[in-house]
Amino acid sequence: MLDKVVIANRGEIALRILRACHALGIRTVAVHSTVDRNLKHVAMADESVCIGPAPSTDSYLNMAQIIAAAEVTDAQAIHPGYGFLSENADFAERVEQSGFIFIGPKADTIRLMGDKVEAIRAMKAAGVPCVPGSGGPLGDDPATNVKIAREIGYPIIVKAAGGGGGRGMRVVHTEAHLTVAIQTTKSEAKAAFGNDMVYMEKFLENPRHVEIQVLADGQGNAIHLGERDCSMQRRHQKVVEEAPAPGITPEQRAEIGKVCVEACLRIGYRGAGTFEFLYENGRFYFIEMNTRIQVEHPVTEMVTGIDLVREQLNIAAGHKLAIKQSDVVLEGHAIECRINAEDPETFMPFPGLIQHFHAPGGPGVRVDSHIYEGYRVPPNYDSMIGKLIVHGPDRETAIARMRVALSEMVVDGIKTNVPLQQRIMSDAGFQQGGMNIHYLEKRLKEQKEKALSIV
Ligand code: ADP
Repeated sequence: MLDKVVIANRGEIALRILRACHALGIRTVAVHSTVDRNLKHVAMADESVCIGPAPSTDSYLNMAQIIAAAEVTDAQAIHPGYGFLSENADFAERVEQSGFIFIGPKADTIRLMGDKVEAIRAMKAAGVPCVPGSGGPLGDDPATNVKIAREIGYPIIVKAAGGGGGRGMRVVHTEAHLTVAIQTTKSEAKAAFGNDMVYMEKFLENPRHVEIQVLADGQGNAIHLGERDCSMQRRHQKVVEEAPAPGITPEQRAEIGKVCVEACLRIGYRGAGTFEFLYENGRFYFIEMNTRIQVEHPVTEMVTGIDLVREQLNIAAGHKLAIKQSDVVLEGHAIECRINAEDPETFMPFPGLIQHFHAPGGPGVRVDSHIYEGYRVPPNYDSMIGKLIVHGPDRETAIARMRVALSEMVVDGIKTNVPLQQRIMSDAGFQQGGMNIHYLEKRLKEQKEKALSIV
């Protein structure tokens, strides 16, 4: 087993990784910025190293400092968490070249999946169903692009090959707008990602977001752990996630899961990963693969009983996957609400001092959060301050438990989105299940209009 791991992240995921390490008897090194000295996992880690000032470019994105921290503490491996450097192929490469284990896939795999055009090409070749599209980058000839779009059929979406975080995309409804849309997306992509390569896909109008969790050891063994539904989104950001996805049959799960497992084996995938799909009219369409642990991983842990971070550590230590596909049995239903320090009406971030904090509890309730009474949420990073996860024998019970848990939760001193999550749990559409990715925004817009008309 590994004996010492650097946790190259902050907040709840850093604490989550620390817990998994300590449960395996692995010592931990917390690396943190100057404003993050008081993070919970920093206090709990065996050692800690300050790697720079608050801006993440100077700290959590500072490759040389993180690798230096591994050197001075004589650690063996680096866990990148999610966000920051977790999907940076150059970082993975530098970590390995410096003689440390990168807890994740090989740099080449990260690079492949980071280029969406190449990723789609590789997935198509591996038999993964993809959205009908250009199948490659778009050239500069307007006539050819018009022809491609006609073949796909409008509406289409122009996407940047190097895009991420819901940026670098443009929907086109009619031919008249196509050429300008391609040019604009290209120049935006160039400015944002330093790569002006764009491609075209059919725009699915009412899809759900359904993703498959996989684990692979890079030694010829891979399994899937079923799916998560992450359709409750605002501005392409997930707000609520659940497992299993409402209405997905065991046969569908087994079929799409097998496709993902075979793709993992074909590309020599190593570690935990997620195949993201849009799901419409009973069909799955691959959009991208995330080569890291995801924010919403706990819902899968709750229904499978498998500790995904522990498995990441085992795989990184060179162990073969000890879990067989037949060992993966889904039990009950799990829901996760992301808790953000933000105004629940305007969605503006709301950093500040937490004066009182009471965490909910009870059967099937899990709180993954680094906050505590007296902790000051800094303005420098993502506004997520934790995740509330519940598990129950069925979806209805899980929703009921989530409502109680949310009502127990006290975070005084700052504003949070707890009231929004309460509204979602009480919403008839959410309770019915299976809503598409536009549902939440549509409901928020309706509520806003209603509130305005009352005023
Ligand atoms: P990113 O890497 O920026 O998250 P994705 O390719 O995962 O980009 O797409 C992000 C979101 O954009 C999807 O969850 C979905 O809401 C929307 N989207 C992307 N491609 C399509 C498509 N072909 N049809 C409809 N919506 C899409």
